[in-house]
Amino acid sequence: MNPNIEEVLLAEPRGFCAGVDRAIEIVERALAKFGAPIYVRHEIVHNTYVVNELKAKGAIFIEELSDVPTGSTLVFSAHGVSKAVEQEARDRGFSIFDATCPLVTKVHVEVAKLAKEGYEFIMIGHKGHPEVEGTMGQLSSGIHLVEDVADVANASPLQTEKLAVVTQTTLSVDDAAEIAAAVRARFPNVREPKQQDICYATQNRQDAVKIMSPQVDLVIVVGSPTSSNSNRLRELAQRLGTESYMVDSADELKPEWFEGKSRIGLTAGASAPEVLVHEVIERVRAFGAVSVRKMDGIEETIKFPLPKGLKLDDIPPPGHIS
Ligand code: SF4
Repeated sequence: MNPNIEEVLLAEPRGFCAGVDRAIEIVERALAKFGAPIYVRHEIVHNTYVVNELKAKGAIFIEELSDVPTGSTLVFSAHGVSKAVEQEARDRGFSIFDATCPLVTKVHVEVAKLAKEGYEFIMIGHKGHPEVEGTMGQLSSGIHLVEDVADVANASPLQTEKLAVVTQTTLSVDDAAEIAAAVRARFPNVREPKQQDICYATQNRQDAVKIMSPQVDLVIVVGSPTSSNSNRLRELAQRLGTESYMVDSADELKPEWFEGKSRIGLTAGASAPEVLVHEVIERVRAFGAVSVRKMDGIEETIKFPLPKGLKLDDIPPPGHIS
């Protein structure tokens, strides 16, 4: 029990974004319509709890398409896939549902369109992240990854007349701006997206942490270690001078983090479900928190349509006999 903790401040917005909502719903509806197992390439979203819940309902998560039996139903994760993976899945004849977030697809479409016009690309992103692999894999060549400002000096496009910049959707807004400035400085002709590629959910959650951090003594981010946008939230709070930790569940909270702290900020990455936020709140209450206050913030109303074949009208209600 920590008598110092007065209040928990809840960031707004936090947690699930429209792309994550849609991706999870696609797996659930595929399970309802076709029955278990449903194969999912890569974690549908980067959250341990979500993945375990879907596993319990009959989803099987795989990395290699060779692990998917012939005739299966396969879902691509929210991060998107390369053209090669898409082609291999088609060639193997799977029934495919694409849960790629429409905001990632938008980047893929832009890359394909500009590549046809002869553009090469500088991609700002994290090496090895599935979204980066998917976006870079839209082309067989001509897309150069930079992870930080230092990388910009080493990028070696074959020409600089037609060069465009694209970014991973879940980056630190500030880091990406700094790297983009370095790209502009080296390649003054570079074409930038009309609307930035970093998505609304990443931007809004980082903006909320910027407002919250100066008001609290400690920031807790609910998110899995693999979640890019959750990691960025923790780093941002830390960079703003507030001690910060990321936890996958309430069990990972350490009482010593709360010693001498009176105001606790709480947020969640775009793939972290609200149930985990509630569990963290209950645990912090048990540590001694007296009240919980939701901060003012942007209300997100964006919703993405489901793929054809999984919309409500496409699925008979339970008990229906056709
Ligand atoms: S974080 Fe952004 S890009 Fe990723 S699924 Fe959510 S809305 Fe889409």
